[in-house]
Amino acid sequence: MNLSVNSPIREDDILSPYDGSVVGRMPVAGEAEVDAAVEKALKGFEVMRRLPRFIRADILDRAADIIDDRREEFVRLIAAEAGKPLYDARGEVSRSLFNLRNAAREARAFSGEEVPLDVDSAVFEYQTSNADGGALKLDRADLDTLANLGRRVGIARRFPIGPILAITPFNFPLNLVLHKVAPALAVGNSVILKPAPQTPLTSKLLAEVLLEAGLPEDALVVVHCDVPLAEKLVRDDRIPMVTFTGSAGVGWHIKSIAGKKKVSLELGGNGAVVVSDDADISFAAARCVRGGVVYGGQYCIGVQRILVHEKVYDRFEEELVSRVRACAVGNPLEEGIDVGPVIDERSAIRIESWIDEAVAQGARVLTGGKRDRAVIEPTVLTDTTMDMKVEAEEIFGPVVTLNKVASAEEGVQRAANSRYGLQGGYFTNDMRAAFRALETWDVGGLMINDVPIYRIDNMPFGGWKDSGLGREGTRYAMESMSDIKFLVFNYG
Ligand code: NAD
Repeated sequence: MNLSVNSPIREDDILSPYDGSVVGRMPVAGEAEVDAAVEKALKGFEVMRRLPRFIRADILDRAADIIDDRREEFVRLIAAEAGKPLYDARGEVSRSLFNLRNAAREARAFSGEEVPLDVDSAVFEYQTSNADGGALKLDRADLDTLANLGRRVGIARRFPIGPILAITPFNFPLNLVLHKVAPALAVGNSVILKPAPQTPLTSKLLAEVLLEAGLPEDALVVVHCDVPLAEKLVRDDRIPMVTFTGSAGVGWHIKSIAGKKKVSLELGGNGAVVVSDDADISFAAARCVRGGVVYGGQYCIGVQRILVHEKVYDRFEEELVSRVRACAVGNPLEEGIDVGPVIDERSAIRIESWIDEAVAQGARVLTGGKRDRAVIEPTVLTDTTMDMKVEAEEIFGPVVTLNKVASAEEGVQRAANSRYGLQGGYFTNDMRAAFRALETWDVGGLMINDVPIYRIDNMPFGGWKDSGLGREGTRYAMESMSDIKFLVFNYG
C-alpha cells in the first residue's frame, strides 16, 4: 500500500467512539512526506493516463470482488472506527461494491461527443476564407463546395486532468471515499486521499485492496496528516482539483484557498421533511426515524426538521415518538443496534448543549435529550424555531425537530427557508404539489414519499446554497474530474 509515510512524524491511536478502545494505529505524514505524496501522485498520473479503459475497469471490478470476499472485515472496521451500527456498516459495504462496479462500467462507456460543424453558412464562409482571398461566397448551387461544409469533424474528447486531491469526512469511511476515488481512477487520474482523522484505517485497507486488484503503485497515495499540511495540499498548484466532502465551514474555506483548482464541495445540511395530510403516516414516521436518528443522525442528508400537516400531526407525533423510543441504543459492534455513539464525546457535548439551549429558548423535549459519554439518546424536540441552532444549523446528531404546519405548502416554505439545500423529503400523493414544491425548494434532490437520506450512487448528488458546489454520482463526478480537448479535423 502506498502510504506516504516512510518517516512518520508520529503514530496516532485510532479510538473507538463507543468505548475509547484502540482500534488501530496510523502513521502521520509530515511535510516531507506530503511533498513526496504529490510527486508520487504525479508519477502515478503518468501511468494511469496511459492505461486503456478495460484495465482501469478491471481494477475497479476486481477491487469490488476482493471487498466482497472480505466484506465482514470491512464491516467490523467501519463499525469500530466510525462507531457505525453493524446494519449500517453492512449497507455501506454493499453500496461500495455497486459504486466500484458502476465506475468500472462507466470507465468502459465514458466518452465525449461529436459536435456538428456544418451548421451555419455565414460562419462557414468567415471561418474558411483566406486572409488574401477576401470574403468567400458560398454558391448554393455548387454541390462540391456544399459537400466540403460537412468535411470537418469536431470531436470533444475527455481527458484525465492529473492527481485529484480527495478530502473526506468520518461518517462513510469506505463508500464516501469511493465516491471520489472510483470515478477519479475510472477516468484515468491518480488520487491523493486525505481521509478523516477519526477513520483513516478503512482508507488504508481500501488502498491495500486496490493495489491487490492491480492498481499501479503511485495511483493512490493515502496521506493521513494534520490540517495545516492538508491546507498545503489544497494550495499546491501541481494538483488540478480538490474534491472535498465535509462541513460547510471547512468546505468554503478550502474553496477560498484553492487558487486555480477545480473545486467540488459536498457539504452539510439540515434536511427537512414535509408530511401532508394525505400521506401514509406510519410509513412516513418509520422513514423519519431511519433518516433522523439511526447511526446517531450522522448523515449529511439526514432528517433534522419534520413539518407535519396539523390534520395528521397528533397521529404522526405518536408514531414517531414511539418508534424513536423503540430504537436500540448501544454498542455498534453488537447486532441489532440502531443508534451507537456519535463520532466523539466533544461532538456529543456540543449536541447536548444545543438541545439545552433550545429548551431554554422554549422548545419541548418529547423524548430523549440525555447524553452518556459519546452516546446521545435519540431525541425529538417540538416548538422549535429557526432562531434555534437545532433548526437553523446542522446538528449531525440523533435529534429531530417536529412541528405543526397549517398546510403542506406552508411546510414546503418553511423547509426551503434554510441556508442549506442538500436534499429534502415530501410525503404527499398530490402530484401537482410535488412538482410545484421542486420549483421553490432549492435542494440538490427532492424525495417524494421518502426521506432525504435516499441515495443511489449513480444519481446526481450535491447541494444548493451553503450545501455545496458541483455534483457527485459516478458519471457526474467523472465529468468534473476530466476536461475537454476539442479536435477539429478538416478533410475537405
Ligand atoms: P469536517 O469538515 O470536520 O472534516 C472533513 C475533512 O476535512 C477531514 O478529513 C478533516 O481533517 C479535513 N479538514 C478539516 N479542516 C481542514 C482544512 N482547513 N483544510 C483541509 N482539510 C481540512 O467534517 P466531518 O466532521 O469529518 O464530517 C461531517 C460533515 O461532513 C457534516 O457537515 C456532514 O454534513 C458532511 N458530509 C457531507 C456529505 C455530502 O455528501 N454532502 C457526506 C457526508 C458528510
